[in-house]
Amino acid sequence: MCDSDFFASAKILNKYDIKYFNCGKCGFIQTEDPYWLKEIYSDAIKQSDIGLLKRNIDLLNPTRAVIKFQFNKKGKFVDYGAGYGIFVRMMRDAGFDFYWSDKYCDNLFAKDFEAADAKTAKAKYEMLTAYEVFEHLEDPIQETEEMLKYSDSIMFSTYLLPSHKPKPGEWWYYGPDHGQHISIYTKQSLKILGGRFNLNLYSNDKSIHLLSKRKLNGFLFKALTFPYAANLISPVLSKKSLLDDDYKTVLLKLKEDKA
Ligand SMILES: [Zn+2]
Repeated sequence: MCDSDFFASAKILNKYDIKYFNCGKCGFIQTEDPYWLKEIYSDAIKQSDIGLLKRNIDLLNPTRAVIKFQFNKKGKFVDYGAGYGIFVRMMRDAGFDFYWSDKYCDNLFAKDFEAADAKTAKAKYEMLTAYEVFEHLEDPIQETEEMLKYSDSIMFSTYLLPSHKPKPGEWWYYGPDHGQHISIYTKQSLKILGGRFNLNLYSNDKSIHLLSKRKLNGFLFKALTFPYAANLISPVLSKKSLLDDDYKTVLLKLKEDKA
């Protein structure tokens, strides 16, 4: 999405020597054309991704807090790039009406709660979550446009490039073992990305961000996405779980499928 210069090279997947490019204006870093992706996405979730459950747990309270204080908690939500559906299930258990969308991965935990197709979903969802998605994107502009078909608010996680601009080998987030992190952002690059679509950027300046057409309190967003704060106020976030109702829905669906 930028005019970039050579930044670094690295060996990924223990076999490919690849190049990274850096934009002098906004700091965005992207690999060369990621020809290796076809090979690695035969398994959408990698064997080395042992942090999967912890990530979902860590994002639960910040998401609940932001929805509770800055969005309509009775709205519908969609988790984009939902993987196995763990986060959707967790948010439904916490009482939030979440659905999933994922082009690559078979849903295991929330199969019956697939989001409506993006083409028909215009402005239908109160907010879209995209956790650990942006660093996987080959074309962040086009993909953001796709996400906006679901909702005009995108809450997402991706680690910002630390200010000392570490190179591959100096920062774990490049993930050379799995080769999936092809786009690394600075706050400035996210601002520019949002600006293309008239979206405001809110960020905790580390890993959790929100692009939204709405004007929100940025300090509040930052506080709510500070993990300790979100965990501390967790008791006031509680909502009636959807688990019992969902169980009835799933049983009904099974019955219909048999008939
Ligand atoms: Zn740039």
